[in-house]
Amino acid sequence: MSKIIYPTTNFKATNTLTIERGEGAYVYDSNGNQYLEALAGLWCTSLGYNNRELVETASEQMSKLSFSHMFGGKTHQVGIDLAEKLSAMVPVENAKIFFGNSGSDANDTHIKMLRYYFNAIGKPEKFKIISRERSYHGVTIAAASLTGLPPNHTHFDLPFEALGVLRTDAPHYYRGALPGETETQFVDRITNNLEQLILKEGANTIAAFIAEPITGASGVIVPPAGYYEKVQAILNKHDILFWADEVITGFGRTGNDFGCTTMNIQKPDMMTLAKQLSSAYMPISASVIRGDMYEAMIEQSANVGVFGHGYTYSGHPVACAVALKTLEIYERDNIFGHAAEVGDYMQKRLREFADHPLVGEIRGKGMIGAIEMVANKQTGQAFNNGAVGAFAQQACQTHGMITRSVAGSSLAFCPPLIVTEAQIDEMIEKFGKALGDTLGFVQQEGLF
Ligand code: PMP
Repeated sequence: MSKIIYPTTNFKATNTLTIERGEGAYVYDSNGNQYLEALAGLWCTSLGYNNRELVETASEQMSKLSFSHMFGGKTHQVGIDLAEKLSAMVPVENAKIFFGNSGSDANDTHIKMLRYYFNAIGKPEKFKIISRERSYHGVTIAAASLTGLPPNHTHFDLPFEALGVLRTDAPHYYRGALPGETETQFVDRITNNLEQLILKEGANTIAAFIAEPITGASGVIVPPAGYYEKVQAILNKHDILFWADEVITGFGRTGNDFGCTTMNIQKPDMMTLAKQLSSAYMPISASVIRGDMYEAMIEQSANVGVFGHGYTYSGHPVACAVALKTLEIYERDNIFGHAAEVGDYMQKRLREFADHPLVGEIRGKGMIGAIEMVANKQTGQAFNNGAVGAFAQQACQTHGMITRSVAGSSLAFCPPLIVTEAQIDEMIEKFGKALGDTLGFVQQEGLF
């Protein structure tokens, strides 16, 4: 038994897989077995493995300047260049960017910046944040409090009350609709619930609404048409900021540059980016805010003496260099266009499983998707524990493909953006075999 305390792991489970190396869209275990990486690691290795340009960029930057911080007046050119490029890419107006190391710490940064900003403009009571059921925003004390998934709360005494996290409906029609309710009625009802929550709490106490445009860890929920239009109209009416958590959906994942574009979200006020920002070659994240929010904080930081927030590795030069190169490759090689095309193909092929007796719902856009397995196809009744999802995930692995079961019994598909249609075919074939094995398991266990 190793000395590692494994993250997001059942400590009692003893089956581990030692991954040794990666190449393109594949990883190899310590016995030399090949696996198609159908989840791009953890939704992050967009350019695949062993990209020589990224490796050489990191190596060159390490030789030139392996570390430099950004506290109290220090900066470096590669960080300035990265911020410039990102600022021009994102749909946030006059975007200003704070660098961190992970999606979770970037979300923590955002919570603190919201407080700092509203204190600066004389509205200290405006600090609460609306987050949705079944959302995922990370695992630090604050980010886990935003997250709306029970395993991230239970036995950690979370959410942390003082943060003022308010919860609203998950926009999942398949799981959340009332009997006989149409999609439009569902959207009307849950957005009305949102407005009632705002009225009950008082808009003057609510800073922002956070959403993953399309969720990841909670099972790839794609909200119905019209949902974000209604949400944004309500937020605008009550002067509440829209905060897009694009840690998974950023950079070409959903068929466009950002999930906001795909889901018709207009000009978010804040954005969280990580993962594909560097194709996961180095840990780096970005907390993006509107330029005028930053302007409003300038005086405050002068009064306090300093903006008292920053990580040792905020703007790590090697991470910045790798991220900058990643963005250059996205542009030069039209990676988002490629991902949109192959993503359409993937969505089409995933939907071929619609008639399978185990399949309840097939979701996704672009190069992100999920297939939810259910105990009863007619009623949509869910399996009452994670055993079926865990079996299917293991069956995929047996057939030479890595994916994850999320939200119980959904299998997620989120391959590197560089995959070819032939590799999507391979993914579909392997998944088909795993689904067949899973049906056998379900029948044998009498779970159907
Ligand atoms: N936000 C979203 C939408 C995520 O999917 C994740 C990670 N899967 C996070 C935040 C947290 O990022 P990290 O694991 O890098 O802390």
